[in-house]
Amino acid sequence: MSNEKRLFGTFGVRRTANDVLTPEFATRLAACYGTQIQGTVAVGGDTRTSSPMLIEAVKAGLLSSGCDVVDLGILPTPGVQYAVRKYYDGGVMITASHNPPKYNGIKFLDEYGIGIPDDMELAIEELYFDSEPKRAEWNEIGQIYHNDKIIDEYVDEAISKVDAEAIREANLKVVVDCGSGAGAYTAPYLIRKLGCDVTTLNCQADGFFPGRDPEPIEENLQELISVVKELGADIGLAHDGDADRTICIDEKGNFVLGDKTFTIVEKQMLKENDGGIIVTTVATSQAIYDIAEEYNGEVIATAVGDLLVARKLHEKDGLFGGEENGGLIFPDFVYGRDAVMTVAKILEILALEKKSLSELVAELPVYYASKTKIECPDEQKQNVMSSIAEEIKNTTDFELDLTDGVKILKADGWVIIRPSGTEPIFRCFAESDSQDKADEMTEWGLSLIKKYKK
Ligand code: MG
Repeated sequence: MSNEKRLFGTFGVRRTANDVLTPEFATRLAACYGTQIQGTVAVGGDTRTSSPMLIEAVKAGLLSSGCDVVDLGILPTPGVQYAVRKYYDGGVMITASHNPPKYNGIKFLDEYGIGIPDDMELAIEELYFDSEPKRAEWNEIGQIYHNDKIIDEYVDEAISKVDAEAIREANLKVVVDCGSGAGAYTAPYLIRKLGCDVTTLNCQADGFFPGRDPEPIEENLQELISVVKELGADIGLAHDGDADRTICIDEKGNFVLGDKTFTIVEKQMLKENDGGIIVTTVATSQAIYDIAEEYNGEVIATAVGDLLVARKLHEKDGLFGGEENGGLIFPDFVYGRDAVMTVAKILEILALEKKSLSELVAELPVYYASKTKIECPDEQKQNVMSSIAEEIKNTTDFELDLTDGVKILKADGWVIIRPSGTEPIFRCFAESDSQDKADEMTEWGLSLIKKYKK
């Protein structure tokens, strides 16, 4: 069996809908997954135009392999992960997350609701291309069930994990923008159940994403920002297409970077639990380490990728984790980025701390980041990285971290050089205590790449 993946990317298969991602493709791939699972599999999808078609195709493939299927309908990715961990042997989510409307994807989950590991992906590809999935005899074809209570259960369990009474008493004014994605089925109800005054934007599910692009970056959230200011709201919240990421807007209308949200929640989690293991990636802020040091936490850094963070949290029995893009993971709830728990937790922090979001952000350690990229042919990437690592080791006493690409740590900041998995480029990302220094460090990173690139 080759180790080179033929279909799967960082989390599932993502392609243009009904081009590569046809019903025939989805059915056969799902049958290959079902061959591996041989149990009860939950299936859900996001709000894309192609999701109902792909959900039916995936269900057919699973039934054909002899798996029973529980149809969860349209809901956020973490809703499926929640259901699988609690009740089922596996799960399939149809989503292209934050990508434009024409895309869709298939994510497969293990029994814990975590994206399946590499060896299982390779085994599925092997069945798909070189062999045949199991086809059950007529009397062993799977059965279809429905679970339409799972969304309520998922939302209610998140509420049970925070001080809902304190949130109700705080009378918070909240604006939420679901971008017409799957968060429309959870976020407004969650916030209303927590007693907040909620105003919704783009909270009608719509696969054309008419209100805004599904990626919750600042340029796509201008309407949310102006509504927060106009209404004098305490906070604005936005989700991506499958509602696993959460972005906050403070009461002044400022876009809050994902690593700031991460650090605010990290601080609260460590305070409440008297310390614990925090898992993030090598590309996140030093502020996470500073807070961990202050509140008795231990930080473990993985290579970039939410699945790797989720698996490490599971393996180490971690307290909290996530990425800098607004994807926060609460491992006692869902082993994956989860928006429902993130929203409940942030509202709880506002209520308990009795501070505005901008004040909470202002209390955090301040670092400045600089990001850039440079072209480099794929076949040269390995050599460039090992040459840079070799030079740093031999000529400096800077610390090196080779978890993902080359990270060079100096006394006043760090720079990381990472090869893109999908494009012929290196990303170069630095952080320091001033913007000038951060910019200088990315320049230095680029100069190192140029030196060894032919
Ligand atoms: Mg997503």
